[in-house]
Amino acid sequence: MKHDRTFDPRYGERVEILPGLCRLTANNPGPFTFHGTNTYILGQKNLVVVDPGPADPAHVDTILSVIEGARVEAILITHTHVDHSPAARLLQERTGAPIIGCAPHRAARALMEGEVNPLDASGDKDYTPDQETVDGETFEVAGITFHAIATPGHTANHLCFALEGEDILISGDHVMAWSTSIVAAPDGSMRDYMASIDKMLARFETTYLPGHGGIVRDAPAYVEQLKQHRLNRERSILSELGDKSRSIPEIVAKLYADVDPKLHGAAGLSVFAHLEDLTERGRTAADPGLALDASFRLLD
Ligand SMILES: [Zn+2]
Repeated sequence: MKHDRTFDPRYGERVEILPGLCRLTANNPGPFTFHGTNTYILGQKNLVVVDPGPADPAHVDTILSVIEGARVEAILITHTHVDHSPAARLLQERTGAPIIGCAPHRAARALMEGEVNPLDASGDKDYTPDQETVDGETFEVAGITFHAIATPGHTANHLCFALEGEDILISGDHVMAWSTSIVAAPDGSMRDYMASIDKMLARFETTYLPGHGGIVRDAPAYVEQLKQHRLNRERSILSELGDKSRSIPEIVAKLYADVDPKLHGAAGLSVFAHLEDLTERGRTAADPGLALDASFRLLD
């Protein structure tokens, strides 16, 4: 599928998307963050800051300098990855604003015996919101009405926020224009992700503001492509298992032959997320049990 990787982060600058809505990209580029984390600032006089970013005092200084003394009424958080939520505490120290949003960090499922969580370092376990928002909840801050939409998959606690009266949805890391989302066990879940993709497909908004990279336009068509992409990947995995049992590295070597071997570890986590979903649905079996180093086979 095609991703839109054209994006100018304009570090240190407040980039206006609409009147009363701007983006400030943190200077934390990387293979998983693209050019950096997008912090969104909404409101006219009183403001809401969405995903203030990593624990980087320089980015918090930049947020405070671009808002030019306006009052921060709330800090809103989509999910607890270390590139999104830790600065909430720094910004709270500087502004006193309450932290509103997703639940504390948790995995999508319990760790299995002997399993080491490969994603442990990416979770912000110190995040404790002052006010947790739940699926379907509507709340108003700084004169803006937000609808919280639970979208587990990338993380178990992921939320998107739709803006009432606007054709705009803040999509966090659930839907991004530059790349697919990372969906990896045990923090994430492919089954949850696919259900959260269907949840997006039932919505009308056409413009999404993602946690990394540029704006998603024509969102329903794009989300449908994301869905088809995962379904294709699932079909490829099933066909790799057609004649015999295979390990995840064997499947990755075949399906990701044209991908930089440095990314094969991440690809393995994604294949595992599919196989976990397929095994739960009774399509595949894992020997001796569901694990990254298991051997997988088809069930009929
Ligand atoms: Zn994330």
